[in-house]
Amino acid sequence: MRKKILVGNWKMNKNLSQTDQFLKSINNDLNFKKNKRFIVAPSFVNLEHAVKKSRNSPVEICCQNISEFEEGAYTGEVSAKMLSSVGVNIVIIGHSERRELFSENNEVLKNKIKTALNNNFEIIFCFGENLSERKNNNHLNAVKDQIINTLFEFDSNDLKKIILAYEPIWAIGTGENATAEQAQQIHFFVRELIENKFGIDIASNLTILYGGSLKPNNSKELFEKKDVDGGLVGGASLNPDSFLEIYRSL
Ligand code: PEP
Repeated sequence: MRKKILVGNWKMNKNLSQTDQFLKSINNDLNFKKNKRFIVAPSFVNLEHAVKKSRNSPVEICCQNISEFEEGAYTGEVSAKMLSSVGVNIVIIGHSERRELFSENNEVLKNKIKTALNNNFEIIFCFGENLSERKNNNHLNAVKDQIINTLFEFDSNDLKKIILAYEPIWAIGTGENATAEQAQQIHFFVRELIENKFGIDIASNLTILYGGSLKPNNSKELFEKKDVDGGLVGGASLNPDSFLEIYRSL
């Protein structure tokens, strides 16, 4: 049976003391359930501290990015080995902000996935249509293209290390979430795509998260859908109270 997962993507927010404060309050409050993972993604510079703070807690620490290269002359990049040396083995790849603002195309994303897998990382892979694709009723094709042109290069064993996150771009940071029905339609559609390519075992064990303006007042309805296995949360993960409320609704 697949595990439920909640992931908080802090993006470029929270300095060292804010990271520390958040983890302190979460660790005091978190009523952890074995079948529900709780993951946060602070900025690179605070990862080591966050890992140390979470060592004896159920909180797992994830990074928001990874270099596609193993090592060398790549100014400003952070490698998989550097990350695992401070205890981080989960990474978000394919976030729409990375795709749009940092020009990460399918080739780059595939390289990042390869490097992450070579270094034994678990990957949270984001995909999702933009507003015009949704308005033109082209969202299923858009999502299908993204999945086929990235994940279909990999094999079933690789897929076991990948969590998917459906993040419609029009819902990210806008306050307008996908409805539970819209999310369920895409999650079911993607699970079928994966099943056709990798088989039923991989597809039925694949965790598919929803992300896009998830809040305490809409998470329960979304999480109740059969193929929605949890969430990837931006804005509402910055506040321990709202993030914990979303966790409880999972
Ligand atoms: C995100 O950026 O992954 C995200 C889902 O953001 P928000 O929850 O703020 O829409």
